[in-house]
Amino acid sequence: MSQRPLPFERLALIGVGLIGSSIARAARAQNAARSIVATARSAATRRRVIELGLADQVVETNAEAVENADLVIVCVPVGQSGAVAAEIAARLKPGAILSDAGSVKASVLRDMAPHVPQGVHFIPAHPVAGTEHSGPDAGFAELFVDRWCILTPPPGAEPAAVARLAAFWRALGANVESMSAEHHDLVLAITSHLPHLIAYTIVGTADELGSVTRSEVLKFSAGGFRDFTRIAASDPTMWRDVFLHNKDAVLEMLGTFNEDLAQLTRAIRRGDGQTLFDLFSRTRAIRRGIVEIGQDIEAPDFGRPHPAQSALPRPYAADND
Ligand code: NAP
Repeated sequence: MSQRPLPFERLALIGVGLIGSSIARAARAQNAARSIVATARSAATRRRVIELGLADQVVETNAEAVENADLVIVCVPVGQSGAVAAEIAARLKPGAILSDAGSVKASVLRDMAPHVPQGVHFIPAHPVAGTEHSGPDAGFAELFVDRWCILTPPPGAEPAAVARLAAFWRALGANVESMSAEHHDLVLAITSHLPHLIAYTIVGTADELGSVTRSEVLKFSAGGFRDFTRIAASDPTMWRDVFLHNKDAVLEMLGTFNEDLAQLTRAIRRGDGQTLFDLFSRTRAIRRGIVEIGQDIEAPDFGRPHPAQSALPRPYAADND
């Protein structure tokens, strides 16, 4: 079946948390889908989606949601992906694009692909954008603007379907790149998964320290610790699933990290200031590089937002703002 450009006729969102609700808001704002149908596991979330007016239709089951949809995006924790694919498989429309938003890609491919019927284009994706908040209230239309969305089309995926999904994400403001699922998992292990693991560890360690009282940890948290607490507040279910499903890549990166940490430990023990200075100079240059390519801003953020930077930049602004 040939692939038309945007908009999609019917976008089905399975899971309407931070990511699903942001896709709904952004797709509406950008007219990337004519109608949106949504579902979530619990009645409470489905009710909230109706109250927030995030979709044209809210249905009770995953199977019902995908009926007649030409784009289906599964936005649930990655541990649920296989079960969701099994539930929806028989109701997927021939020619539809089936995608997801999971933070891990090889396991999603492994768990979902066996259920995908012939004639449905399965193209996993990961919008590399998020916050530490979850649920339908947490989403916002600008979440993907100037962020990356990585597509991991399996070998043999139809180029026109990949292009159409890429056009959808570009309409939501994202930059799009394609790579293999395995490569994605290795890259994200170092750029996202390991930093989260370190944040969870540091905040957990500080919490256990008997010599520093809890109130002191909280009171003096501006000294670097505060940024870790934000990352360590990320959704426990989502992150449990990330580590269980990207085990090999995370363990590989953790091995290298532990070696580097041992080297730094030795430098501190031996009073080797040069080693410390050289590393800190290298890392400062990396930070400058991230600011230069627009993935963060130079302005200091001491826990206070910068309103000027948080507005939806045109042409991504909604009609009514
Ligand atoms: P979230 O806010 O916790 O939302 C998850 C949603 O999935 C909820 O609506 C939940 O419904 C629903 N759900 C769970 N199991 C389900 C099932 N079996 N059937 C139908 N719905 C189900 O999570 P999120 O942050 O949006 O993350 C969603 C996906 O995006 C994850 O795979 C995550 O790895 C990926 N991701 C997250 C981020 C981030 O920063 N958060 C960034 C990029 C990608 P209930 O509310 O009823 O439980």
